[in-house]
Amino acid sequence: MTDSINKKMTEEAARVYTDKKLVFGEGNTKSPLIMMIGEAPGGDEEKQGRPFVGKAGKNLNEFLDIVGLKREDIYISNVVKLRPVNVSPKTGKFVNRPPKKDEIEFFLPYLKEEIKTVSPALVVTLGNVPLKAVSGENIVIGDYHGKVTEFSGLKVFPLYHPAAIIYNRSLKDTYFEDINKLKELIEEGI
Ligand code: URA
Repeated sequence: MTDSINKKMTEEAARVYTDKKLVFGEGNTKSPLIMMIGEAPGGDEEKQGRPFVGKAGKNLNEFLDIVGLKREDIYISNVVKLRPVNVSPKTGKFVNRPPKKDEIEFFLPYLKEEIKTVSPALVVTLGNVPLKAVSGENIVIGDYHGKVTEFSGLKVFPLYHPAAIIYNRSLKDTYFEDINKLKELIEEGI
């Protein structure tokens, strides 16, 4: 299943990136209704070696509650499987940063293979990074959120990234409206 992809990626990542822990996708690999794709793991994910735990896991649970699915019903992954960090000049500690173009390009073939293997009915992307990655186009979330668009036969339902809505009230309302639209689609069988 996805094990052979993971093994290949581990070997290649070990060549290119040292001293890092890969965070693989997990969940239902047998044609689930939804495959959710985030940007990259954060600190909690790196520690636990699992996508969407900690704060991101709370957002995911909120999403699952609304659409009426369980974590094990769906498949969850990220475009970039390593935590992108900077070193804080103040504290000397690692701080999260968005993934860079070359990091996204490095992991893209694996994401494509992952999508093919898992074969979901619908891909739900969070934010611009996974939307651009799965569409292969230089598009922005503002034009595509909250509706299904097909890219080379792949049905994609983009959502804003939960981290982006924290300080923006109207974006937060839009995010929840979009999830409720997705709930309707799921109830209709997509
Ligand atoms: N955690 C993840 O695994 N992915 C994200 O996009 C954000 C947090």
